[in-house]
Amino acid sequence: MNWLEEGSKYLMPNYARYPILFEKGEGVYLYDEKGNIYLDMLAGIAVNVLGYSHPAITKAICQQAKKLIHTSNLFYIKPQIELAKILVENTIKGKVFFCNSGAEANETAIKLARRYFFTKGENRYEIITFKGGFHGRTLGALSATFTPEYQEGFKPLLEGFRYAEFNSIDSVLDKVNEKTAGVMIEIVQGEGGINPAKKEFLQDLQNLCREKNILLIVDEVQTGIGRTGKLFAFQHFDLNPDIITTAKALGGGVPIGAVVAKDNVSSTFSAGTHGSTFGGNYLATEVAKQVLKIVNQKDFLEEVSEKGEYFKQKLKETFGFKVKGLGLMIGLELPSHIEAKDIAKESLKKGLIIGTAGKNTLRFVPPLIVQKNHIDEAVEKLKLIIR
Ligand SMILES: *Cc1c(COP(=O)(O)O)cnc(C)c1O
Repeated sequence: MNWLEEGSKYLMPNYARYPILFEKGEGVYLYDEKGNIYLDMLAGIAVNVLGYSHPAITKAICQQAKKLIHTSNLFYIKPQIELAKILVENTIKGKVFFCNSGAEANETAIKLARRYFFTKGENRYEIITFKGGFHGRTLGALSATFTPEYQEGFKPLLEGFRYAEFNSIDSVLDKVNEKTAGVMIEIVQGEGGINPAKKEFLQDLQNLCREKNILLIVDEVQTGIGRTGKLFAFQHFDLNPDIITTAKALGGGVPIGAVVAKDNVSSTFSAGTHGSTFGGNYLATEVAKQVLKIVNQKDFLEEVSEKGEYFKQKLKETFGFKVKGLGLMIGLELPSHIEAKDIAKESLKKGLIIGTAGKNTLRFVPPLIVQKNHIDEAVEKLKLIIR
């Protein structure tokens, strides 16, 4: 098969694909069909937290596939209940809804916020989100995502979104009114350039939400599942969100999304108000359970923080550019005349996979099992490109 030719012929052109086709992966390395080896510092965009061919994931998939993959949510699903319990016990007291992606998780959060106030008999439906934020590509999630290039050509969008400046409580105050139902925020903006929220801002935001009875929704789709050195990034701060959404890394590569909401919020989803055919099926939830079993260990999470610090220090020393991020979610801000996508493209030729975030930021979101020697290798390779 001529995959380059047929790929363009049969697939929609909505991605700028690199002309590379991988055949297998092991640990933090990927191998293409020519046998070239790549060190992966992108992890399928913050998805493959345990790297490739991790025995725990492979085993869970094989064993579960032999028993049951899917039944539907018209029945109880044991690993779904077990996974929900793990999520609740390690986040906020409440209940869980499962879906298949980050966008769907955020759609659910938007619907929950509306439903919550509907149930209370209050006409509040507006959600404040942030410039530089990213919440997904479905129409609701896209409406929550301010970036004009993403929205172009898809209007009219969903009503009721207001966009505030990240890290500015005054800007949030400016957008609050009697219709405000929720504020949705990433603790570290991912797509927007690896921008961490400031501690004081998050405290002020939580206080404001409490004072005005606004739901605090934290989008942990990228920051969740150990990425920042805590199971969820909000746990670095003294936060108690009403709703959290997650997806990307939760299934270690198997599609799954989840929403955890406090009881007073989740109870407003009565039978028939929301659903997902695949959401929380046997295969996805059994695998996610195994992912959490490994990631949600004190030693594992501490190591993520430690390796993140090492990586940041190394980047700072080597290049002297601004380094941002939390744990193993790291951005290297390039001088304005260098475009991140050019560097990402060049680094592929050296066998290094890195991401970009915004125009000028290189994004490193490696598998969390990455070791210091891999970090050294990545920096050495980057040195060949950036001088
Ligand atoms: C990737 C991402 C999403 C969208 O997730 P999909 O699974 O692609 O729908 C939403 N929010 C954040 C913060 C993300 O990084």
